[in-house]
Amino acid sequence: MSIKHVVSVSGGKDSTATLLIALERCPREDVLPIFCDTGNEHADTYAYLDYLELALDIKITRLKADFTEQLGAKRQFIARDVRTRREAVRREVVDAQGRPVQARRPGDGALIFDAAGKPVIKTRKCTGRKVRWSNRAKRRALSVMYPSGNPFLDLCMWKGRFPSRKAQFCTQELKTAMAVEFQLELMEAGHQVISWQGIRRNESQNRRNAKLSERVGGGLWIFRPIVEWTAEQVFEFAAARGIRPNPLYLQGMGRVGCMPCINCRKDELRAIALRFPEHPARIAEWERIVSMCSKRGFSTFMADAHDAKDRRVIFADLNIWTRIEWSKTTRGGQQRDLLIDLDDAGGCSSSYGLCDQSSLEAA
Ligand code: SF4
Repeated sequence: MSIKHVVSVSGGKDSTATLLIALERCPREDVLPIFCDTGNEHADTYAYLDYLELALDIKITRLKADFTEQLGAKRQFIARDVRTRREAVRREVVDAQGRPVQARRPGDGALIFDAAGKPVIKTRKCTGRKVRWSNRAKRRALSVMYPSGNPFLDLCMWKGRFPSRKAQFCTQELKTAMAVEFQLELMEAGHQVISWQGIRRNESQNRRNAKLSERVGGGLWIFRPIVEWTAEQVFEFAAARGIRPNPLYLQGMGRVGCMPCINCRKDELRAIALRFPEHPARIAEWERIVSMCSKRGFSTFMADAHDAKDRRVIFADLNIWTRIEWSKTTRGGQQRDLLIDLDDAGGCSSSYGLCDQSSLEAA
C-alpha cells in the first residue's frame, strides 16, 4: 500500500507554496496535484497552471463538476410540478409598535441572547408563499435549462439561484465534492491519502484555529504545512525557488480564485470591473440565465438583504452592474469616490506589495 499526496492547487500563492513543499519532501511520483475548475476563473489562472506544469515538470489533474444529470432531473421535476400547497416560513414577531420581540426561554422566561451577545428575536411559523411553479415560470425555465458545460453556471441553473454567504454551495459542489471523489477513488484502489491544503491561520477568522494535521479516518489525513506562515513568507518561499506568482496578484487582486467570488470585497469588485470588464459582462449574462431558471424570476450574483417585494426592484438594486457602481463609492455607499477615475487599469498594483518583484516576471 503506497501513500499518495494529493495537493489541491488553486493557482493562488498558498497552494503553490504547498505544492512546492510536497515536491521537496515526498517522492515525485506520489505527489498528485489537482485543480478543481469552477468555470468562473480568470484566463491568467489557467495559464498559470500551465506555467507550473512546465516549470516544475508535473501534471496537474483538472477536475470539473458535471451537472447534466441534475439538470435533466430538474427539467422533469419542473415540467411535472403541479403542487398547490404553500411553504411554511418563520417570521419575526413584532409588538404593537412594530418592534421585534425578543425570545424568552421556556420555563423561567429569561431573555435569550446568541453567542455574540445579541438578542435573539422571537419567530412564529406561518403560511408562506406558494411554492408551485406557474406555467409562465415553467416555460421560462425550461427554455434555458440545458447544460452549458460551465460548472458554475450549470450548478446555479440547477439550484435556480446563485450561492450566497449563508448558502455557499459553490465551494461544496465545485471544489470539496470533486476533491473528495478523487481521494476516495485512490483509497478504493488501496492507497493511503494525505490531502495537502494551503491554508493559513492568519488568512481569516474562520481559519484562525486550523490545525497542522488531522486524521479523517479510513486511510485519509489532512496536512496543512503552511498553517503558521504569513503571506509574505509564502511569496518569499516560491520566489526563492524561482517560481513567480500568479500575475493576478500584480493586478490588484488580493486573492486568486473565482473571478469574481460571490463574497469578494468592495475594492476587489472595483478592481475586477476596472481591469477585467469581460468578467462582469459574463456575470450579467449568467444573472439573466439563472433568473430565468428561478421560480421567483430573478437571482443576483451578489445577494444582500432587501425589503422590497417587487422582484424587478430587487434585481435592479442588486444586479452586478449596480454592485459595481456601489463599489466605486466611498464608505457608506452614498458618494462616488472621486479618486477612482485616477486609477490606471494598465498599471501594476498589488495588495501584497509585489510590484517591486516585477523583476521576477522578467526572469
Ligand atoms: S466561495 Fe467564492 S471562490 Fe469559493 S467557489 Fe464560491 S464563488 Fe468561488
